[in-house]
Amino acid sequence: MLDLLVQGGRVVGPQAEGDWDIGVLDGKIAVIAERGATPPPEAAVVVDATGRLVVPGGIEPHAHLAHYISMRTESEMYTLGPEQDTVGMAFGGVTTHLDFCQVYPGTTAQQALEQRMARWKGQSLIDYAFHVNFMGATPIPAFEQVPELVQAGFASFKVFTCNVLPPVPPRRSYRMDFGRIGHLMERVAGAGGIMVVHGEDDDLVQFNYELFGLAGRTSGANLHLVHSKLSEQLSFSRTVQLARAKDAAVYFVHTSASEGVAIIGRARAKNQPVYGETLHQYLCHTADEYARPGGFQFHTYPSVKLAEDQTSLWDGLLKGTLSTVGTDEFPTSREVKLMGSTIEDVTGGNLGAEARMGIVFTEGVSRRGMSLRRYVDVTSSNAARILGLYPRKGAIQVGSDADLCLLDTSVRRRLRRDDFHVADYSPWEGWEVTAWPATTVLRGRVIVDNGQLLGQPGDGQWLPRKIDPEVLQRPVL
Ligand SMILES: [Zn+2]
Repeated sequence: MLDLLVQGGRVVGPQAEGDWDIGVLDGKIAVIAERGATPPPEAAVVVDATGRLVVPGGIEPHAHLAHYISMRTESEMYTLGPEQDTVGMAFGGVTTHLDFCQVYPGTTAQQALEQRMARWKGQSLIDYAFHVNFMGATPIPAFEQVPELVQAGFASFKVFTCNVLPPVPPRRSYRMDFGRIGHLMERVAGAGGIMVVHGEDDDLVQFNYELFGLAGRTSGANLHLVHSKLSEQLSFSRTVQLARAKDAAVYFVHTSASEGVAIIGRARAKNQPVYGETLHQYLCHTADEYARPGGFQFHTYPSVKLAEDQTSLWDGLLKGTLSTVGTDEFPTSREVKLMGSTIEDVTGGNLGAEARMGIVFTEGVSRRGMSLRRYVDVTSSNAARILGLYPRKGAIQVGSDADLCLLDTSVRRRLRRDDFHVADYSPWEGWEVTAWPATTVLRGRVIVDNGQLLGQPGDGQWLPRKIDPEVLQRPVL
């Protein structure tokens, strides 16, 4: 007998869509049956998916939970932890998230990972993994740990090409120089890992802080001019050239500008394994909104940009130049999020993981004609493939983990406060949606069902990752 049967839904599989019933045994998809062909198999639990669209559980490739809030130096503050934020992810149809493990000079990656793993253990409601994030001027010998880390299941390595935040007050450096980045690229490529890059030009951004300060143009409404389109262009371009020289695959986080999309497109046209993530925040908002009351709730670094950038991002996402939609989840209270108002003190980061599956469906599928297959790719499958979780995650096929999101695609309403389960606000309150997750299944267990939380902290497991070599050789998706 099966453990679970998800019956009556419309299912999006890797090759086709169909009216299929999904049977689960020991957390894995054991059978996918054409409806009506044979009598339904017996199962201990039956979920009625009539009228639902069944897609792979969402994969959030970019989250910062239990993360030091470095823009608020006045006191030591952290973003909400996995025990709180993954409740929202579960309600939002997300079954896996990738967070970051920051490794500062003076600590080894192993030590930092041990701490991070201990913080998550027993706390996450959904499955999880960590990008290893070498911060600042990593001592050169430390890069020799890379093959061992890849072997242990940590397949992605994040770097910042810039310090992101203003020069004052002084903070620990984020930025890694391009010498080190190239050195790391060699090791990551040799070991079968991928580079994850926050690409902004440090010279330009830091100079802009100085210039705008001098000119008295310190309103946060200028954030997109400090973290400029040109800065993304220079840094993406330099990173792509370096990666070509080192034979390294690159995943650009939070692509925000038309220039970034164009550079990713050109690299891919030359068969270089370069992949781009954007954020639903960047797809749906522009910098004009900064000036409105509460407008900084839409800010995350680099920054939301202009209408022309929004158009390019959608174009890239629909046509395949961009591969994923992430969140840059950085959950705080509304008070903390809206504390600042100048280019030097606006709090970055988004609160959007719970809304991501619904918003991308609404804005992509309903409003812009995105195919259901493409929807599944950008919310789940592509992140799984690029970051080394496929086919365990990101696919509804026999043998994969039974991670499912059952979308109610009949809704036509504005999101309200009580649609959300994290913090005391959501930037998506008031947004009109045409789909919303109704049921979430994690490895065959129903963790959310029609507004009821059935999962608990500790349900989530850490996931070792290994990337398909094809993904690292050329832009296969
Ligand atoms: Zn981030």
